[in-house]
Amino acid sequence: MNYYIKNATLVNEGQTFVASVFVSDGKIAKIIREKEDGPSTGSGTFAPSTQVIDATGKYLIPGIIDEHVHFREPGLTHKADIYTESRAAVAGGVTSFMDMPNTVPQTTTQELLQQKFDLAAEKSLANYSFYLGATNDNLDEIVKTDPKQVCGIKLFMGSSTGNMLVDKNEVLVRLFRESPCLIAAHCEDEQTIHENTVCCKDLASKGEVILDASIHPFVRTMEACYRSSSKAIDMAEKFGARLHVLHISTQKELSLFRNDIPLKDKKITSETCPHYLWFDNHDYEGKGFAIKCNPAIKSHRDKEALLQALHDGLIDTIGTDHAPHLLEEKMTDDYFTSKSGFPSIQHSLEIMAELVDMPLLVQLMCHNPAILYQIDRRGFIREGYHADLVLVDLNANGCISNVNEYSKCGWSPYDGIQVHSKVTHTFVNGNLVFENGIFHEEERGVRLCFNR
Ligand SMILES: [Zn+2]
Repeated sequence: MNYYIKNATLVNEGQTFVASVFVSDGKIAKIIREKEDGPSTGSGTFAPSTQVIDATGKYLIPGIIDEHVHFREPGLTHKADIYTESRAAVAGGVTSFMDMPNTVPQTTTQELLQQKFDLAAEKSLANYSFYLGATNDNLDEIVKTDPKQVCGIKLFMGSSTGNMLVDKNEVLVRLFRESPCLIAAHCEDEQTIHENTVCCKDLASKGEVILDASIHPFVRTMEACYRSSSKAIDMAEKFGARLHVLHISTQKELSLFRNDIPLKDKKITSETCPHYLWFDNHDYEGKGFAIKCNPAIKSHRDKEALLQALHDGLIDTIGTDHAPHLLEEKMTDDYFTSKSGFPSIQHSLEIMAELVDMPLLVQLMCHNPAILYQIDRRGFIREGYHADLVLVDLNANGCISNVNEYSKCGWSPYDGIQVHSKVTHTFVNGNLVFENGIFHEEERGVRLCFNR
C-alpha cells in the first residue's frame, strides 16, 4: 500500500509548513510543499493502491524514537511484553524503541541479545534495538558488540530494578576505555543511597518521619545523582568514551553538560523523561507510590530547571524510561517493597505537547535521538528516509485514563490528566499500523541500523 498524506502541517527541522507527503515502498518518496494561499498541488493521479489521507489541520511529525524503555520480555511478562508495549508505543506515536537489559535473564551476552532481537522480529509493531547490559564480569561480551547493529551498552552506576550494578573500579575503567559503542548510564551513587536509607529507617523507628512515597527523594537524593553522574562523566572524558547520561532529574547535574557544541560532535550527552518535567515532590501526596521511580522525582525547582534546559540545549533527548509494573506491585503499604517505575510510552507525546512547542518536541524526541545514536535514515521527514510518520491532532481535548491503557499493566501515572493532543495515525516503515484507535497488525517493525 502507498499513501498520499494530503495537506498536513509538517513539523521538521525547525520549520512548520503545509505540505503533502507521498509514501511508497516503505519510504518517504516525495514531499510537496503547498504554496501559501495557492491551490493544493496534491491532486495528481496515483496507482490504485494509493490511499489518500486528508490531513488538513493535523500535524505531521517524524515517528518518535524512544531510546529508553523496559518492555520486560523475557521473564517479566506478567507486567509487560514486547507485543503489548509496542502497541502502546505506536498508539502514542512512537515508531522505534530501544529496550533495556534488566529482564530475566539479564541481557548480558551476545547470545541473549540475539534472542531478544528474534523475539522482537516476531512480535514488535514498532522498530527496535536492544542494549547489552554491563556487569562486573562480561567485558569479553561487550567488546564483541557490533556498533552498527546494536544501540548501545547499558551501565547501572547505582543499583535499580534488576541489580546490574557495576561497582568495580577496574571494570569501569576498562568499560570506558574499550566499549565499542555508546554507553547509556543510570547514575545514582549506591553508597549515598545506602546511608540515606539507614538514616530514614532510623528516623522512622523514632516516629520522626513516615516512610511513604514522599520520602523517596530523601533516599535517592540529588547528591546521589550528582556524585554518580559526575564520576561517569569524569571517567568518560578521561578514557574517551561516548557517554549518554540517562534520566537527569536534578538542576545540579545540568552544570555537567555543554550546549556550545553541535549534538553530532558531543561525546557527553543527557536525557530526561516526561515525568521529571510534569511531576514534582508535591505530587507524592496525591499519586503516592504510583510515581515512585529511580531516580526519584524531585523538587519544583528541579522541574523548572529541567524544562529550561530543554530550551537551552543542556538536555539532548527525551526518553520515557517506560517501566511497567502491576499496580499491586506499586501500591503496597511499604516504601521498601513498592516497585520503582511506571508505564508512560503511550502518553509521552501528549505530555510533552503540553510542555513545549511542536518544533522543540520533534527535536528532542525525533531528531536528536536519531542524531545521537546515528540511526540510519530515521527521525526526520526527508525524501528517501524510512516512512516512520505520525499525524497528531492538536485541537483534541481529552483525559488520560487507565481505561484506555494499551500497556499490559493497564494503568498510567497520568490517569486523570487533561491533554490537548491526540495521535490519529502512526506509520511504521510506510505501514499504517495505528489509525484512530484501531491497530493494523499485519506487519512487524524492523531492527534499527546505525551509521557508525
Ligand atoms: Zn530505565
